Amino acid sequence: MSGPVTDESGDVVVCGGDRPEIDHIEVADAHRARVGPAEVRRLLPRRQRRTVGAWCFLDHFGPSDDGLATIGPHPHIGLQTVTWLLDGELLHRDTLGSEQLIRPGQLNLMTAGRGIAHAEEQVPGGGRGGHGVQLWVAQPDETRDGAAAFEHHPALPEVQLDGADVKVLVGALGDGRSPARADTDHLGIQLALHDRCELPLDAAHEHAIAPLDGDVVFIDGQPLAPDQVAYVAPGRDCVTLEPADTAAASTRVLVLGGTPWEVRISMWWNFVGRDKDELTAAFEDWQRDDERFGTIASELARIAAPRPPWLP
Ligand code: MN
Repeated sequence: MSGPVTDESGDVVVCGGDRPEIDHIEVADAHRARVGPAEVRRLLPRRQRRTVGAWCFLDHFGPSDDGLATIGPHPHIGLQTVTWLLDGELLHRDTLGSEQLIRPGQLNLMTAGRGIAHAEEQVPGGGRGGHGVQLWVAQPDETRDGAAAFEHHPALPEVQLDGADVKVLVGALGDGRSPARADTDHLGIQLALHDRCELPLDAAHEHAIAPLDGDVVFIDGQPLAPDQVAYVAPGRDCVTLEPADTAAASTRVLVLGGTPWEVRISMWWNFVGRDKDELTAAFEDWQRDDERFGTIASELARIAAPRPPWLP
């Protein structure tokens, strides 16, 4: 369920550098984007807030009764894909030879490094549900030219807070530390919120908060709808989350955090680089089926890259 990412002009998305400073909570609407046949809520990148920590991409898809979208082989560079499902099943295949079924509550983490390709397939006989998030994490200079890798974590640490049960996808909350690889100081957690909860935050981090179920949650008293994302600037060591209806089943909420990303990056299609030359090289390597991205055992058709708009 990855990408691709473009801004409204189809041009490269540049992150890093100018960051509007705020000392409050900024609530923004998702924009609607298409990934294959499916419409998704794109919460990152946004024009005013390209990254949150190293998190540089967040799509929230579903819930749907039509299953999860199948996506043919396509490449990535310079990023990690984090796939997190709330409903449905997908089969992940990649050019390292990984073949992994992912189910709700499990974490798939793929590190692209210098290059990888993967496909996501519907599972024959699998459920018809489709709900989840697709995230990307920008890789730092230390690892972005390194080897590709794939991890599957069938179980993740859980932390109990007053008002919420928390699963730690990436990073650490209290005593809960995720086994998932993290190349930067970042956090990804899912709360099942059933009452008012004081969520402790790392004050060195900035955070993004997004409801995943159909209900509004209140963040420091401000309403936040499922097609919205809240940005919390560094300097806060706590935020209050409260479901609209405490009598209802719990409301799931995604919280991302991290040390603010300072390096200028360029994102286009499925690539994260530092400039257009790197993106052009990746485009050309994929189009000529260069061994950089390897081969993949998928029946699905390979996805051709669009032509970068900056090329003649
Ligand atoms: Mn992908």
